[in-house]
Amino acid sequence: MKKVAKTKPSKEGASAEQAMRLAGRYLMNTYRRPPIVFVRGRGCYLYDHRGRKYLDFLGGLAVNALGYAHPRITRVMRREAGRAVHFSNLFHHAYQGPLARKLAEWSGLDRVFFTNSGTEAIEGALKLARLAARQRQIEGKSRILALENSFHGRTFGALSVTHPAKYREPFAPLLPGVEFVRFNDVADLEAKFDDSVCALVIEPIQGEGGIYPLSAAFWTRARELSSHYGAAMIADEIQSGLGRTGRAFAYQRLGSSPDIVVVAKPLAGGLPLGAIIARESFADCLSPGLHGTTFGGGPLACAVALEFLSTVEDEHLLENIRERGAQLRSELTRLAAEVDFVREVRGEGLIIGIELTVDGKTYAEAALREGIIINCTHERVLRLLPPFIVTGRQVNEFMRRFRHVLLNTKLPSSVPAKLAEITERNAFAVSR
Ligand code: PLP
Repeated sequence: MKKVAKTKPSKEGASAEQAMRLAGRYLMNTYRRPPIVFVRGRGCYLYDHRGRKYLDFLGGLAVNALGYAHPRITRVMRREAGRAVHFSNLFHHAYQGPLARKLAEWSGLDRVFFTNSGTEAIEGALKLARLAARQRQIEGKSRILALENSFHGRTFGALSVTHPAKYREPFAPLLPGVEFVRFNDVADLEAKFDDSVCALVIEPIQGEGGIYPLSAAFWTRARELSSHYGAAMIADEIQSGLGRTGRAFAYQRLGSSPDIVVVAKPLAGGLPLGAIIARESFADCLSPGLHGTTFGGGPLACAVALEFLSTVEDEHLLENIRERGAQLRSELTRLAAEVDFVREVRGEGLIIGIELTVDGKTYAEAALREGIIINCTHERVLRLLPPFIVTGRQVNEFMRRFRHVLLNTKLPSSVPAKLAEITERNAFAVSR
């Protein structure tokens, strides 16, 4: 066994140096983290172990939609933690029913199952689609269609409908019977759809894939084919949903509703909670014992989620998201005209991608040094997912610093100036 010096973390946790050293020694090697330890947040700002302040335009990867330490969320967390954190799904508590009703109202669908994460919601949605096909006694109706460049999570079912090879291949073999349709390619969808399909999984805006909005033409045809063949049309709104685009759900831009919607990330103010929201005709396939979870939908998480959704409504945050999103996109587009390595600014509301023609990671790292938090997805797309409460002044502050980052960061010589050779990404770009 490798030896490390013994440390005694204080009641408040380890010192920053201890925390980083112990992480290096004891954590599995799944994330490449910068040498920063965050200690607290307030509103749209985070503070690290040296007291340095950061403007957070990533929001914990679309989770912290009300920023940090929002007074309404903090109040409910304190109240519920003093009552009960968990009962078990064998009994009722006061919050699941009202929260399910609100999600049904927001989505226009009928019934809800609560999960602990996005990937678990995807798993449940796929199971529901398979179950519906089996209960309708349609022989061999088990194929699943998903889209190229998709991301749906890390468990086996979710991974099986996630397209990029880098996520899938190390864990093969995955679920059989999954086929990928070229993004926004209606002819390819028509060619691959038939009676053997039980589910079609779609992100209305691809998030991890680089902020690519689905076309209304593709969505409409997907709706028609799913209805025609009796397949479940599943919208993955884990990143794009619950207000992020300035609408309750991103699919509401596209004109018709899916059969099943999955949500997670911002739902419970940072506590783990996801949900599968389904049309009655799919939900009614379930009966006690067919599906379940120990932790999903506990009283603390559900009470906080109700408060989150009520805050979005009471504080007219959808309007703020639309206005701040328009402000950001127009400022970014203006900046893009000054910088020859910005290829495109895309997105809707507060989910925005800035595609570069060069390596994005260098710029995301430089942004962190400049005190703004963003990330890079798909090698050259800088992604912004700021909290719904972001103000016009904070957008201006972000733009000032981001402009400095883009204009003053030099790519290291080891990074090719143009990443045209990223083969997987390029193969995908051709299909658009
Ligand atoms: N689906 C989408 C669109 C996502 O963005 C994510 C996470 O980034 C997931 C699924 C997986 O969710 P989770 O990380 O909560 O399991």
